Amino acid sequence: MTHTDLQDYSHKRLNILTGEWVLVSPHRAKRPWQGQNEAVSNTVRPAYDDSCYLCAGNTRINGEVNPKYQDVFVFTNDFAALQKDSKSFSVEDGLLVAESETGICKVICFSPDHSKSLADMAPKDIQKVVFAWQKEFKELSENPNINYVQIFENKGAVMGCSNPHPHGQIWSQSTLPNEVDKKNTRQLDYYNKNKNSLLGDYLAQELEKQERIIFENDSFVVLIPFWAVWPFEAMIVPKKRQSTILELNDAEALNYAEAISVLTKAYDKLFNTSFPYSSGIHQAPTNGNENKHWHWHMSFYPPLLRSATVKKFMVGYEMFGSPQRDITAEIAADMIRKQL
Ligand SMILES: [Zn+2]
Repeated sequence: MTHTDLQDYSHKRLNILTGEWVLVSPHRAKRPWQGQNEAVSNTVRPAYDDSCYLCAGNTRINGEVNPKYQDVFVFTNDFAALQKDSKSFSVEDGLLVAESETGICKVICFSPDHSKSLADMAPKDIQKVVFAWQKEFKELSENPNINYVQIFENKGAVMGCSNPHPHGQIWSQSTLPNEVDKKNTRQLDYYNKNKNSLLGDYLAQELEKQERIIFENDSFVVLIPFWAVWPFEAMIVPKKRQSTILELNDAEALNYAEAISVLTKAYDKLFNTSFPYSSGIHQAPTNGNENKHWHWHMSFYPPLLRSATVKKFMVGYEMFGSPQRDITAEIAADMIRKQL
């Protein structure tokens, strides 16, 4: 390790993408600790569930019937958080400030097989999901009312996901959400000063150090970011600077699919469970600008801490101060690498 103090003493690390700090307490990683113990449910699900509203051929709550899809299926969310044609307004009443927000929300089924997750799918099949993400992103980005597209997945009941059928979501809207706004500003500042991609320069440093790298292929690096908050938080970053996933060619899309496959398979092996997480792709706004400062990336935020049943809670100091972690990013990378 280049900086051994980081493994022994409490410190805080800077998230270069958001400008926020995370408190790291490596000395606490060995303290006796009684975590919560839930029953693990490793029951094998059927490939088809007649009560699942995402399975092929089934009827959704609004009465629409899903087609007998073979690989990936996308539809507009029946209960969208954002409305497409709602009223445009703003409220500025003293300190009460609000603005209308419109958007389009979609659901994407990764596979017709109810029992599978991305970790069970072959890279060739995950590549079809990437192609679907590209198609939806392109279509939404051409809409003048849409300036940002958020692709994400909530996996597992512990993440509040109500349906185990392999699926993700795409929420698109007229303004930048908080997390993206922070990353947009930080990347732009760095690009203006250095004429280089912030994440590209970070990646070069990580590849040289080889302390937090989990996996790499010709086009992608999978790593635990230096500033990770969640115990096994990971990031997939393209080696070449690209503003959005639209710049991926077919070979790169397959390499991206391989990176997703390697990481999710390793996650499942880590605690011998279908590893829950929220994952999402942060990419350039779809505001018509070139956005050369943007280097898109995918982040995974898994809640598990030390077993299939012991999860991390963001409470107390983390609600009122800053996020905090005990095991370091380097130890976490080592643990996941051992599952490859
Ligand atoms: Zn299903």
